[in-house]
Amino acid sequence: MNTADFIRSEDIANNTNHAMEEFWYLIQNDLRREYGEESFKSWIGKLEFVECNNHAVTFNAPTRFIKDWIVSHFEVKLLKLWRKYVPTVKKISILVPKLKKTVAVQDNKFSESSEKVGYLVGNTLDPRLTFSNFVVGSSNQFAYAAAKAVSEAKIVNSGSNPLFLYGGVGLGKTHLMHAIALDILKNNQSRKVVYISAEKFMYEFIHALRNNSIMQFKEKYRTVDILMVDDIQFICGKNSTQEEFFHILNALIADNKQIVISGDRSPSDLENMEDRIKSRLGWGLVADIHNTTYELRLGILESKVELIDVKIPQKVLEFLASKITSNVRELEGALNKIIAHANLTKQEVTLETTQQILHDLLRSNEKIITVEEIQKKVAERYNLKVSDMYSSRRTRLVARPRQVAMYLSKSLTTRSLVDIGRKFGGKDHTTVMHAIKTIEVLMNNQNEVSEDIRLLTKTLQC
Ligand code: ADP
Ligand code: MG
Repeated sequence: MNTADFIRSEDIANNTNHAMEEFWYLIQNDLRREYGEESFKSWIGKLEFVECNNHAVTFNAPTRFIKDWIVSHFEVKLLKLWRKYVPTVKKISILVPKLKKTVAVQDNKFSESSEKVGYLVGNTLDPRLTFSNFVVGSSNQFAYAAAKAVSEAKIVNSGSNPLFLYGGVGLGKTHLMHAIALDILKNNQSRKVVYISAEKFMYEFIHALRNNSIMQFKEKYRTVDILMVDDIQFICGKNSTQEEFFHILNALIADNKQIVISGDRSPSDLENMEDRIKSRLGWGLVADIHNTTYELRLGILESKVELIDVKIPQKVLEFLASKITSNVRELEGALNKIIAHANLTKQEVTLETTQQILHDLLRSNEKIITVEEIQKKVAERYNLKVSDMYSSRRTRLVARPRQVAMYLSKSLTTRSLVDIGRKFGGKDHTTVMHAIKTIEVLMNNQNEVSEDIRLLTKTLQC
């Protein structure tokens, strides 16, 4: 008779929990022998025995991830071993008790936090980046609606999971992600929200690999309610990080947990990203943020100046909205510069001071026009082929438009006369000079020519 038989015959009749604990002790030893101390400690060793009635054995697991792992890797074995001692057992039941947690809110700011202090994990949230501070226009209304829907959803809608937001820099992707996180944490403090930049995610992953703490890393990410990863393009080409990210993505989606990802381009355009990840990211809802329109830029400026003391004339706002077209971040930067200048000098803000202050910024926002573009537009205007621009045909029909194009090349680009001559089929710089003089004379004498030049300049500058 071995020990197990002995205990069975003695104690099952009483069915005391004490006996069951003895069984559990013996089963653990079996498992330890079979799987090795390391593996045992990482998984089975984390279970806490609760009770065994005749049909089911119940345990507590510290996290859902550990529970899932044990169920998928050890459940059959566990059941088999238990039945050796209690043949009536049909089920292993693992519970994950809920821990009490609080949201880390300090001084009206969500602080950098870990699971210990709150549900927000990852990067700090900026409390100003809310939905109400986000100005909606035609270029971003779809992304805004998608973000709002995700933050308000009572249950995860598989059609918008994952939500993939993409667009160029400074167009509001990070703003929308912060808004989602802030909204969710405000309305439901028990949800575990992770907002993290892809760079930080990668850094943490590499750190975990080096420190043999990969299990903690996995657990941290696989036990969240909502995972948001910002600027996913930063993990392009990083194969092991991609691999891990893919598993986390799959596990969370399978668990019906919401994922929000942002990138600088659409999932299918991400370079050096595994195809299976691209396809996974494109599964749910993909929402792009387009370049801003004049109306949106003006709207953003107006909403920002409402909150400050400095008086800024509407003309200045309109000027900024028409000149700073690259992105919202630059637009805000320009406005902040003007405000700072006004505060410092106590001078009134005017169009002139604005132009002076923003001299460099305005220059870099000007569109760079190339000789090739000029040739193309001029050819279109006069119904010619682009090749006529650099041919040696001398008929008036071709020669005059070619002169117009040379004139525009000098006035709209920084190219030298020699350079321009070269781009027009290897003409001498004196030919270019002559063309410019001819057009200048014509512009003074013929309205038609000056109107053509004005219109062409306008089309090229937009
Ligand atoms: P991205 O992450 O797309 O590069 P951000 O979200 O960081 O851009 O936006 C850059 C700046 O512009 C932020 O300060 C953000 O608050 C502001 N911003 C962008 N879009 C809007 C908008 N529609 N309304 C108000 N502010 C905006
Ligand atoms: Mg961003």
